[in-house]
Amino acid sequence: MSDNERIYYSSCFQEHQVSLGHPECPERLQAIVEFIQSENRAKGWQWCEPQMVQSQWFEYAHPSEYVKQIFALLPDEGEPFIYLDGDTCWSSQSGKAVLLAGGSLKEAIDWSMSDKKDCMRNGIPISFCLSRPPGHHAERMVAMGFCVFGFVGCAAIYAHRQYALERVAVLDFDVHHGNGTEDILGDYPTFFFASTYQQAIFPAGTIAQNNVYRKCLPMPAQTDSCAFQSLWENDVFSQLMDYQPQCILVSAGFDAHRNDPLANCLLIEEDFYFLGKRIKEIATMYQAPVIANLEGGYHVDSLAKSVYAFMQGLAH
Ligand SMILES: [Zn+2]
Repeated sequence: MSDNERIYYSSCFQEHQVSLGHPECPERLQAIVEFIQSENRAKGWQWCEPQMVQSQWFEYAHPSEYVKQIFALLPDEGEPFIYLDGDTCWSSQSGKAVLLAGGSLKEAIDWSMSDKKDCMRNGIPISFCLSRPPGHHAERMVAMGFCVFGFVGCAAIYAHRQYALERVAVLDFDVHHGNGTEDILGDYPTFFFASTYQQAIFPAGTIAQNNVYRKCLPMPAQTDSCAFQSLWENDVFSQLMDYQPQCILVSAGFDAHRNDPLANCLLIEEDFYFLGKRIKEIATMYQAPVIANLEGGYHVDSLAKSVYAFMQGLAH
């Protein structure tokens, strides 16, 4: 069996607790895993159990005092969770969950790079990290929007420092602006960062640049498949090809789906297949490993189907 496609998943992610009725609930991951494990849908993908990183790994993106302060706030076992902001919960098992999420990305990068030569013989290494909580709203010093640490931002800087990659691309198709990743990548202006998002919803008002390496592209409510695919093709993928990425990290959020309760876009599963397929094609062109991390997506049934469609696109 070829080993080019990996899913990093730990059942411990379910132990990150949130308030009753909170959209970022354990049922999200449960639905995804049940869906892709049934009817042999994950055929060809190897399941990997991540190890935890040391908390210092987050210092790739966050100041040490922020990391220490957040871990110092962890409730004791049996104590109720706390709120880090109006909607970001932090429970006794959340420390473990974020260290596993960081570990998923770190291991995915290490595997992609160390086995690169072998993998390239059969295809591009593709990894999908199925974790909770999401991370793309966490800024260097601020936990917000369900996010505490910027996993993808950490991973981009880790890939650069550990493997001397100069052209690191980060693509974010969550319906909310990846403000945290943009903030974290502020010191790395030559990394390519693209984020498409519905305008004027959370986190409205954050810095969103648009230049040769930053593609922060607001979309109106009711954006449909045609407009969305054109935007990605014309304003992201064509520039990404010029950039010739050495590594592609993806903040994979599925809340632009038409059924999602947190936004008002009109995407369907096929749009996520399109993204996976195009990302894979460009990755193949430049021999760039792909490492995707789950961000949002809050209609559990549509989320599971959308994740599967994206994975099919990546594996096509
Ligand atoms: Zn989102």
